Amino acid sequence: MKGKKGYLKRKVWVIFGALSVFVFVFMVKYVVFSLGVSDSHLIRFMSAEFLVCLVIAVSLFVVVVVRKLKEIKAEEQYEHIKRTKSVSENGTNECQSCGNRQVAEADKSCKICGIKFLGRLN
Ligand SMILES: [Zn+2]
Repeated sequence: MKGKKGYLKRKVWVIFGALSVFVFVFMVKYVVFSLGVSDSHLIRFMSAEFLVCLVIAVSLFVVVVVRKLKEIKAEEQYEHIKRTKSVSENGTNECQSCGNRQVAEADKSCKICGIKFLGRLN
């Protein structure tokens, strides 16, 4: 399955991206504090900056989660369709996994690819 490796790669990049946002925010705070600036305006500005970064990070996280859930749902639908038999134009049953048209009405599994049928498509 080629999607597994790509998924792990993307996951690593998302974690790296989120971490770099937080590292950047804390680095800015560290640099400003090490300069000895303790102006209340500056602290207010930094708090606002931190909140903006937090909102961006959370919304990116939500986008990633929603996309992942959609991907899982699509994968489930695809797996279900693959495990059905459908009636082709000339009235025979067809396996949706391998395209075998020699599937009898009573068959519980495909004789060619061995997949177990969950139901029919139409
Ligand atoms: Zn088959």
